Amino acid sequence: MDADVVVIGAGALGLSTALHCALAGRSVVVTERHTAGSQASGRAAGLFKSVQADELRTRLARRSITRALSFAGWAGVPLPVARSGSFLIARTPQHREYLGQELAQSRRWGADVREAARTELSYYHPAGDEYALWCPEDVYIEEPASLIQACLAACRRHGAVVAEDEPVIGIPVTAGRAAGVETERRSIAAPVVVDAAGGWVRQVAGLAGARVPVAPVRHQLLITEPASDVDPADAIARVVDAAVYLRPARGGLMVGGFEPGPLPVDPEQQPASFSTDDVPLDLGVLRKLAGQVAAEAPAADTTSVAEHRGGLFTMSPDGRFVVGPVPDLPGLWVASGCNGSGFSSSLAIGEALAAWMTSGTPPPGMTALAPDRFGPLTGEMLVSRGLWQYAHYYDPAGVAS
Ligand SMILES: Cc1cc2nc3c(=O)[nH]c(=O)nc-3n(C[C@H](O)[C@H](O)[C@H](O)COP(=O)(O)OP(=O)(O)OC[C@H]3O[C@@H](n4cnc5c(N)ncnc54)[C@H](O)[C@@H]3O)c2cc1C
Repeated sequence: MDADVVVIGAGALGLSTALHCALAGRSVVVTERHTAGSQASGRAAGLFKSVQADELRTRLARRSITRALSFAGWAGVPLPVARSGSFLIARTPQHREYLGQELAQSRRWGADVREAARTELSYYHPAGDEYALWCPEDVYIEEPASLIQACLAACRRHGAVVAEDEPVIGIPVTAGRAAGVETERRSIAAPVVVDAAGGWVRQVAGLAGARVPVAPVRHQLLITEPASDVDPADAIARVVDAAVYLRPARGGLMVGGFEPGPLPVDPEQQPASFSTDDVPLDLGVLRKLAGQVAAEAPAADTTSVAEHRGGLFTMSPDGRFVVGPVPDLPGLWVASGCNGSGFSSSLAIGEALAAWMTSGTPPPGMTALAPDRFGPLTGEMLVSRGLWQYAHYYDPAGVAS
């Protein structure tokens, strides 16, 4: 045996899983097709959100915030985190009602969420009739690469090997069990294999004849040039009726959001060389989203664009993560179904997955994320449900639509 655990993919989910396995005393090898954090994780907005659609996701999101803030203590490497807090803002009666429900349920699930008397932000000037929630627990990581670099350094510090530019091309199955990986350079034998290949998770699982129920969907954001009405100390704002998020970034404003007609992009249908750099970007989508908040946040709409980036979410039919052992193939595990929150929940998911793999017992609630929970689904159902979840990111119950 070459390792106790081999992880496929050095994004946030793979690295966190590897780090937690190494901390549990396991020998770990991570194989990465490109460089660590070069795909979805390196494009993330870096936002952590304590208000979630169900109790399990709330618990994972809040645990991740705690783990990010205490990273240096348990991982031994510094991690800069902006303790900004966030506002959730509703400008229509339906969305106001919806936020009211989120307030009640999030509190029940332990999150610190309050009605905000005013949205105190330099870059957002409310019209006066909004309803807003204040979420003091929320944080962001300014540059997503800093979480990746911190996880990489911590992995190495705790003995995990991260092999970059080493794509996995096979998953041998011996006596009905996943037995390791074949990369372009070598064979690595391991009794536990974790598929954390992001937008490629289905193709990688397919190497062992397994299926993972996710649909990759494009997501984009922009960062404006520095703007005088953005204070770097400002909080995050999420305008739920516009499905837009805003935060200070590099002296300007980060603007991202969820278009109602999202674009599925399946790497399986693309040339083998397809990477995040090939995801088609469309500034028009972001311009339209920014236009919806132009009256309150003029910098989002009028300041020139310094950076426009995008990548793939892995959407699942119910908007929840897809995490756990692959049924019918002992030894193969999955960390996927990010649904747009994989960066921010990675520290809690990696922790839970490592505990599950090393103890053999699922942490409370985690079996609800089982890869086989949907039963048989056609490719079209997978995509159409994934697109629905994407378009309802801030309104997952569809209450306000
Ligand atoms: C523009 C944008 C903004 C976002 N903002 C946020 C946010 O604010 N908060 C949040 O929580 N989430 C956000 N997300 C989502 C977040 O980025 C993802 O949920 C998260 O990065 C998923 O991590 P991952 O490890 O699954 O995927 P990835 O980071 O894509 O990592 C998967 C890795 O697997 C590798 N791989 C693939 N195939 C193979 C193979 N055969 N062999 C070896 N390696 C392989 C890939 O090269 C890749 O590096 C955003 C995403 C985008 C695109």
